[in-house]
Amino acid sequence: MRDVLPEAARRWRVVEDTLRRVLAGFAYEEVHLPLLEFTELFSRGVGEATDIVAKEMYSLEDRDGTGITLRPEGTAGCARALQQAGLLFNQTQRVFYTGPMFRYERPQKGRYRQFAQIGAEVFGLAGPDVDAELLALSWNFWQALGIESQVTLELNTLGSAQCRADYRRALVDYLTPQAKALDEDSQRRLTSNPLRILDSKSAQTREILVNAPSLPDYIDTASRDHFARLCELLEQLGIGWTHNPQLVRGLDYYTHTVFEWVTAALGAQGTICAGGRYDGLVELIGGKPTPGAGFALGLERVILLTENHGYLAEQDFSTASDVYCCVLNAADQGWAMSVAANLRQAQPNLRVRVHAGGGKLKNQLRRADLCGASWALIMGEDEVANNQVTVKSLRDATAQRTVAISALAELLK
Ligand code: ATP
Ligand code: MG
Repeated sequence: MRDVLPEAARRWRVVEDTLRRVLAGFAYEEVHLPLLEFTELFSRGVGEATDIVAKEMYSLEDRDGTGITLRPEGTAGCARALQQAGLLFNQTQRVFYTGPMFRYERPQKGRYRQFAQIGAEVFGLAGPDVDAELLALSWNFWQALGIESQVTLELNTLGSAQCRADYRRALVDYLTPQAKALDEDSQRRLTSNPLRILDSKSAQTREILVNAPSLPDYIDTASRDHFARLCELLEQLGIGWTHNPQLVRGLDYYTHTVFEWVTAALGAQGTICAGGRYDGLVELIGGKPTPGAGFALGLERVILLTENHGYLAEQDFSTASDVYCCVLNAADQGWAMSVAANLRQAQPNLRVRVHAGGGKLKNQLRRADLCGASWALIMGEDEVANNQVTVKSLRDATAQRTVAISALAELLK
């Protein structure tokens, strides 16, 4: 579990604000959801056989013995919340949430045990137009950050729940006689989550898969039409994609469209955003049948990408303040704090820090330099008496000027 310290947090804030602006532009509404849910929500909603539920959850007993779990993902909780509030019945919803998720994984670059997602979910709309909207929304994220040349979209359809079940049976029938030749994980998945075997990295398993039944052969006409319409809309929107028939996603609740935005720039942790349609989920957790679709974006991975690519790659996040007020006499501290308050009001984008703790001007200027300020405002006896400050550039030793307080904000603009 990582600490996000000031410099990293500054970049984080800018990335998150950018993504929030895009979400606001699509009129998605924010929801705040609890970090803890009943364990049962995930074992039902995400699926017993998934990696998440089988081996990644942080589960504990509440004081009354109830099983609760730190959320490993947001979709199940989001569906639960809207369902419980009666917001899914005969209505449509477009919402998003941000915040930490928890999974017991092997930590490495881009993979942590506490990580943050931004998730967007749409309920009550079954058509491919919604799938296209979600892809347009995520595409706009990458454009807003200037990283669109770094990502590609992989798309697949799992068909209806029926198609998925039929294919699952065919795959199991094909693999069972050769089960002993599969890798260990795949052997286990054969009975629990066979579609995930398609994801296997084992060379021997991959060889066996070459002649396996192919998912596209099991997709019915209605599902094909759904997918074809989605592809048409993406074409009109100018969003490129590649078909990845092996893409099945780890979670049990997906039907029809599944997708991942992947990048080659982050090594093994290349998926920065993933999602799809999950028409069966609401019913699975006890609601009326309600179509749904959504995605979750891994914020840490997106932030990592912005460090070397896009508009934020060159931006300087190293400084903590722009202006540092040096107060030479302890008696003038209140005066200095009021000058700073007025300056912040006049120039809301300026980060203004007032020296605290007294000391010599030389030491105060050193502090100013350490926090990255461009300007020091020197407030000595003469300045205070005349309602002035001396503005000193910390970048250019010769630039120094004494100005009236009334002219300060304009000068620093
Ligand atoms: P992966 O295959 O990388 O484990 P996943 O399929 O388990 O990903 P999802 O459950 O689809 O991931 O979560 C959506 C996104 O959240 C991922 O695409 C990724 O960007 C991010 N994510 C998932 N797990 C982690 C993690 N442990 N640390 C950081 N980001 C993560
Ligand atoms: Mg995972």
